[in-house]
Formats: sequence, C-alpha cells, structure tokens
Amino acid sequence: MSTVIELKGVKCTKCSDKAVVRVRYAKLNLCAKHFLEFVENRVVKFTERYGVFNGVKSVLLALSGGKDSSSLARIMVRKKDVLGLESIYGLHIDLGIEGFSNESRIVVEKLCRELGLNCIILDLKQLIGYTLPELVKLSKRPACSLCGLLKRHILNAAALELNVNAVVFGHHLDDLLVFALKNLFTQQNLSYLKLKPVAKGIPGLLSTKLKVLFETYEDELELYAKLSGLTVVQQKCPYKHVDVFQTAIRDMLNRLENEIPGFKISLIRRLSKQLPEEGAGSLMKCSMCGAPSMGETCSLCRLTSRVFGKPLGLELKLKIREYVKMVKEPQPR
Ligand code: SF4
Ligand code: ZN
Ligand code: ZN
Repeated sequence: MSTVIELKGVKCTKCSDKAVVRVRYAKLNLCAKHFLEFVENRVVKFTERYGVFNGVKSVLLALSGGKDSSSLARIMVRKKDVLGLESIYGLHIDLGIEGFSNESRIVVEKLCRELGLNCIILDLKQLIGYTLPELVKLSKRPACSLCGLLKRHILNAAALELNVNAVVFGHHLDDLLVFALKNLFTQQNLSYLKLKPVAKGIPGLLSTKLKVLFETYEDELELYAKLSGLTVVQQKCPYKHVDVFQTAIRDMLNRLENEIPGFKISLIRRLSKQLPEEGAGSLMKCSMCGAPSMGETCSLCRLTSRVFGKPLGLELKLKIREYVKMVKEPQPR
C-alpha cells in the first residue's frame, strides 16, 4: 500500500465531485482538481516554512523528462508569482544514449513548449565531442558516476552563465531519505546525508542548490504527472541498475509509512533538524577552467586530461556560454 490510494465511489472532501485518490497521511479524499491543488499548495507551504526562495528571483531547473522534474516544472510555473520568482529556465542535457536520450529530449522540448518555459538543451556530443556511452568506454568509469560528474559540472556552469540565483532539483522525499540512510549506513558521516532544502553556494563559483520537493512523496508526483496529463519518458536509462541496499531501505521505509502514515515526512524533518547547515566547504577554483574544485584541478579537467590528453573544462564553459546567450532573453509571462 502506498501514500496515495486511487479510489472509486467516494466523494471529494473539498467538493461534491468524485474522489480519485485518498491521501493517507493527510486523511483526505480528493478529486483530480483538488489533488493537483493539494500537491502544489504543499510545495508552496514547504518553501515558505523553510525560506527556500528567500532572496531568490531567478532559477535554473534541471529537467530529465521524468515524472519528478516534469511535475516540479509544472508546479513552479503555475506558482511562479506566489513563489516570488521572476524567471525560470529549464536545462536538459542530451547524453547521447541511443533511444533513451532521443525520447527524453523530445519529452522535455514538449514540456517546455506547453509550459512556456525558456529551455536550454545541451548536447554532450556537441559540448565535448563524445556521447556518454563513448565516454564510458574510453574512461572505463561507471556510467552513473561519470553522468553525475558531467551533469553537476554542466548545470553549475550554465547557472553561472545565466546569472540565476539558484539551481532547483527534482529530488523527492523518498529518494532523499534512501540516499541519506544508505550513506548513513555505509559512510557513517553525517555530512554526506545532504538533508537540507537549501545548500548555499559561493558567488561566481558555485550555484546555490534548492530541493523544493523535500517533503513530497514519489507516488504523489507520479499521480500529479498522470492527472495533469504530462508526457513523461517511458524508456529506462540502460545504465540504471538495481541497488540491493537502496531497494532494502526503500522497502523498509514503505512498510513503516504503511503502518504510520506521514512517517517519512516526520523522519526527514527530524534528521534535517539535527544536521548543520549545508555549506560549500573549502572549495577552490580549477586552475584550468575556473570551475569549483577540491584541489588545483577540477574532476572534469582531470578526467579529460587523462582520457583525451587535454583538459576540456574551459572549452565546455565557452560552448555553454554560446548556448546560454541564445536563450537569455525576456521570459514570457
Ligand atoms: Fe545517468 Fe545513470 Fe541516471 Fe542513466 S541511470 S541517466 S547514466 S545517472
Ligand atoms: Zn474536489
Ligand atoms: Zn576544470
């Protein structure tokens, strides 16, 4: 049994229409319209309670074409004024994975057209000359770690070029808890938990990161995407693998949520309260490309130096600057 249960033959708690869903932790039966409103209003209330958008007027939204980031984009566009935002940009990275990347790109382009969102699509092959599968073969690094490194680097560079106040991610409550608990068991270091809605950046070097779906369940987003008619990517990334550890933690959390509706929300609140503010730590500027780095050279410049014999960080930054220039124009309202 999950957080939300699809219903038949019951009336909406808020109007006389048929309820389509029961939200167990809120003890509400809701029709489609009131469910969509419920999810949107909870996101807004969460951001107000934690001051997530304090001082933030412009954001860059990482779009994958999946249900999480697509639902988040729709929520943010609909609540743009209430959230006090002046501009929202979407960014999608085409990784060049056969089938999966084509579908993802088409879905994101459609989403941005429908929402009137200013969207930047960056093609990895055009940026550095290689697709992700080609890079995996050449570097002999695991696909997901390479993908994470590239996405972090590209998003940060694009956010700095756009001069937005923050980058917004579509990580939801379930993913954040699974990630945090896995790290707690394996790293035994609280600083790895990343359980804060806001991770402050460093002006000109590292963008601020916001987790707006911190208290939103995965199955709420799935139903939100379905009821609002969003098209989402159907194919799975071929590199996605089953992580036994994560599956076990997910099952345990689902069982507890089933017994105690609202368990996951109170757990993330309690864990988050006990952690110190997420800071950028002692980051330096990469001597090759100016990106944030733990040492003299950033991980992308180190990787490309090893694989291609030259660092590609600067080249990548200049190409991103060209793409960003093309979309940096007044936003449609
Ligand atoms: Fe990237 Fe791995 Fe996700 Fe595929 S599954 S998109 S390679 S992080
Ligand atoms: Zn209703
Ligand atoms: Zn670099």
